[in-house]
Amino acid sequence: MLTYQTWKKPSVQFEIDPVYKGAVNLLEWTYEHYGKSVVYACSFGIEGIVLIDLLTKVQPKATIVFLDTGVHFKETYETIEKVKEKYPGITIDMKKPELTLEEQAETYGDKLWERNPNQCCQIRKLDPLKDSLSKGNAWISGLRREQSPTRSQVEFINKDDKFQSVKICPLIHWTWKEIWRYVHKHNLSYNPLHDHGYPSIGCSHCTTQAIDINDLRSGRWKGKGKTECGLH
Ligand code: SF4
Repeated sequence: MLTYQTWKKPSVQFEIDPVYKGAVNLLEWTYEHYGKSVVYACSFGIEGIVLIDLLTKVQPKATIVFLDTGVHFKETYETIEKVKEKYPGITIDMKKPELTLEEQAETYGDKLWERNPNQCCQIRKLDPLKDSLSKGNAWISGLRREQSPTRSQVEFINKDDKFQSVKICPLIHWTWKEIWRYVHKHNLSYNPLHDHGYPSIGCSHCTTQAIDINDLRSGRWKGKGKTECGLH
């Protein structure tokens, strides 16, 4: 089995078919290779809606982890409920940080996300994901190459030094238009904030409407010089 410890560049090739751009082929390989221990870390943004639909074609009983920081939009929690209804076989683990928001404020001071967003993301996102990934050899992520310069080099199968794991990225060849075409074609429910100027949706304290229409992540950590939560 290909793991972080046994990593070598995979020789397996996936056909980039016109419908799924290789995503379903890769997911089939992933579940055959790793079994059910593989975890999909989903933020329930629009890529997540597509990926869950693809994932459940291959593994109707997939396990999905949502990093429940405690400061998500109510629309995000409502979207999760709709996904649960549509795909009753999946398990969604609402993974919480070790510290509640009150405990975090007591230890590090109020509104840590304003003063030190990297530390806040470490506590509320990275540490919980690390714990979830400690039980398996691989995880799935909805990254697309088109999303940002920092994501443009992502491969289908990646060595993940940060979490000492293997990161599987089925959507790397999908464009923003293709994502939406799929959502509409299959009549999938999605977070309504996408229709109100939020192409990328994270915690409510750190997400605004996009300020640059050509930069889908320009509404994340606006003015803080930060573009990623640190998971990738
Ligand atoms: S996105 Fe903001 S609120 Fe959420 S964990 Fe990171 S810094 Fe904290």
